[in-house]
Amino acid sequence: MKNTTQIMRKKQLIEALAELQRDAHEIAVVHGWWEGKRSKAEAVLKMHTELSELVQAWEQGNPADKHLPQYPSDVVELADLCIRAFDLAGAYEMPLAEAILDKMGFNRGRPYRHGKEF
Ligand SMILES: [Mg+2]
Repeated sequence: MKNTTQIMRKKQLIEALAELQRDAHEIAVVHGWWEGKRSKAEAVLKMHTELSELVQAWEQGNPADKHLPQYPSDVVELADLCIRAFDLAGAYEMPLAEAILDKMGFNRGRPYRHGKEF
């Protein structure tokens, strides 16, 4: 049973994450990335690109990001990954914010190492 504070916090988090989703998709649309409607598979491939850039950042000693030099490259690539996930969810009207919170709640209740021995 959740108390009012927990319910309000969840509602605020959903609103904040949903706003990130809307903004990420809007920015991508304005910049032409959804002309001709990108497929879900193509959007996922772009997410893979961000993961590759993350590993590349570590391989290169994680220098300052070239666009946001106040951050190391790895955290900016993680941001890119999240932005692309929000963009995809925005394009296909997926309830990502709710799913994130529900999945984290589910994970919180799972057994240690999810009950697996490996
Ligand atoms: Mg990137």
